[in-house]
Parts: sequence; C-alpha cells; structure tokens
Amino acid sequence: MTDVQVRAERLLMGPGPVNVYPVALETASRPMMGHLDPLFLDILDETNDRLRTVFGTSNVLTFPISGTGSAGMQAAFVNWVAPGDVVVVGVNGVFGDRMCDVAERLGAEVVRVDHEWGQPVDPERVLGAHPSPDIIAVVHAETSTGVRSDIAPIGAGKGDALLLVDCVTSIGGIPVEADDWGIDIAYAGTQKCLGAAPGLAPFTASDRALDRMLDRPSSWYLDLNLIATYVRGDGSGRAYHHTAPINEIRALHAVLGAMLEEGLENVQARHRACGAALVDGLTGLGFTPYAAEGHRLPHLATAYLPDGFDDASNRRTLLDDYDIEVGGGLGDAAGKIWRVSTMGHSARMTNVNRLLAALGNLI
Ligand code: PLP
Repeated sequence: MTDVQVRAERLLMGPGPVNVYPVALETASRPMMGHLDPLFLDILDETNDRLRTVFGTSNVLTFPISGTGSAGMQAAFVNWVAPGDVVVVGVNGVFGDRMCDVAERLGAEVVRVDHEWGQPVDPERVLGAHPSPDIIAVVHAETSTGVRSDIAPIGAGKGDALLLVDCVTSIGGIPVEADDWGIDIAYAGTQKCLGAAPGLAPFTASDRALDRMLDRPSSWYLDLNLIATYVRGDGSGRAYHHTAPINEIRALHAVLGAMLEEGLENVQARHRACGAALVDGLTGLGFTPYAAEGHRLPHLATAYLPDGFDDASNRRTLLDDYDIEVGGGLGDAAGKIWRVSTMGHSARMTNVNRLLAALGNLI
C-alpha cells in the first residue's frame, strides 16, 4: 500500500476524531433518487424550512445553492452588484478581503473599512464609511481570526443599503437572527457548524433584497432568477435549471433534522462548552488567545503558539501520529497562531481531550 492508502485506511478504521454527523455520511451514500422525484422535492422544501430556522428568517427565498460557501458569496454579489454600485466592506480577515475582490470584479466602487486582524468589525466605522452605499457587506464569523462581529447594529443603521452577511462559519454554531438583525442577503456553508460535507451554500434573501435583484446578472449558473423560479412568482413555480446535488441535499436535510432534534440551543451550548475547555486547555499549555475577548468564536479557538513551539512540524505530527488536523495562521498571522475548530458534530469533549492530550505529549 502507498503511504496515502495507509493513512486513508487508518482514518477509515478510526478511532479518528468524530467530525461529520454520522447521519450525513449515511444519507449521502444511500441509493440515488431522481432530482425531479416528488419525494426529493418534498425533502428540498423541508430542507429549506430547516434552513429558515438556522438562519432565523421567514424569507421565501431560502435554499441551498449547489456549490461551496464561495458559490454563496459569488451568488450574493453577482445578483445584486452592478458596475458603479457602492459596496462598503468591513474587512477584518481573509474572507472580508475576498468579498472586496468579488465586488471589484463586478465593477463595484468598493469602500474597504480595514480593521486590525483579531478585532471585530466596528459598526460605527462601517456605517460612517459612505453616505449612501448600495450594499454593506460583513463577515459574521471570520474563520481566519476566530472573531465574531456584531451584525445587529449594522442592520439598525443600514438606511437604504442592503446588508449582506457571510454566515459560513456562524450558522448553527452561534445564533444567527437574519430577520431581527436586518440582514437582507446571507450565505453559509455546510462543512462548518452544520457538520455535513462541503458542497452546498445555504442561502437566504429578504423580500426587500428580491425587489432590488438584477434582472440579468453576469453569471448564468448563479442567476437566482433562473434557479429559484418562485422568487418573483407566487411561490409555486419550479423549473429545470440544473441537476441538484441530490445526496448532498439529503445529507443536509438529515443533519439539520438531527440538529433541530437536539435543539439549536443545546447544539450551541455544546459548542460553547467545548470552546471554553479548549481555550482553558490551550492556555494551560502556554498558548495565548489571539481573538479579541468578548468576540471569540466558541467553536474556533485562535491562539499564539508558545515560545519556541514550531508551527509546521507540530501540525504535521498531529496529523500523522494522531489524525488530528489543526489550522495554521493565515496572512500576517501565518506561523504565529493556530486555529483549532470544534464545529458541528466535532464539538465534543472527546475531541477536545484528544487534542489536549496529544499536545501535552508534544510540548
Ligand atoms: N467565508 C468564510 C467565512 C469561510 O470560512 C469560508 C471557507 O472557509 C468561505 C467563505 C468559503 O467557503 P468554501 O470554502 O466552502 O467555498
């Protein structure tokens, strides 16, 4: 066997870290049903209802886009940003920076409001950046820094602008209240706190946003006018656009069912408990928290490495010898911090203890 096969076998046999909800794997590997099968369409409708719950919205347009979180980001911009539109972006990490890139490519006048990494976006600075923006865009949970930004004050002060929010790393793990916070457009991912595999981008848009959607965006694949035919109708129309990733949607349906059965608050309490234990344990081992206090994501601990503790070789050892993957720092934080996530199904004390025990051997 090659080294790759050996490691793949070992991961299969366990006992590796628990990551994806077992029900997701099981459902995704079931025999295929047709994408126009009425049963599948019912599953899709129920999935959309469950997504409304985790997004905290009653938006009619709520569904999983076929593509990863980045497809959600692209759909959010491409359907609303015309050349010359003013897009204010609160940037406090990699994904805010990426929003600027996406908006610039569409010809927007991008007003970047940069923040120190590790800090949350400052609502006042974002709201004061331009007198009449068309869109204000912010990342709720910055995966590059482990920071949560407050969205509600931006929603309260957005005026005529549409508020566009990246919820990739927040949905399910911490509260998202799209309607109460005044979010008009939001997208997420399935591989973080929802605990499914990557491949879908849960998406939602308010009626206010639908009224301002472009008639003919530059992307055919992500044109919401074509995908979600009920957007401008009475809610009943459905037309063939592309073949839905059936088994991924069924897996998403299953994990959302499992999460809602556990209770969203209980899921989030599990994230908080693991996060607290992880930060305590890391601090005890000599790591220093990186994200601003009061804005730390419970499910994504970011911390400076202890003095003299090597980044790359220790992450490699964790992977090779313990089957535990830890994220390194990005941008300026590369080599200086680690990003340790306990998201979705992986927010279990058994995972936290495994990592801390392994680190105890390495330090
Ligand atoms: N936005 C945030 C905050 C993310 O963390 C990620 C991925 O990690 C993305 C967007 C892009 O999502 P994907 O990698 O699923 O395309």
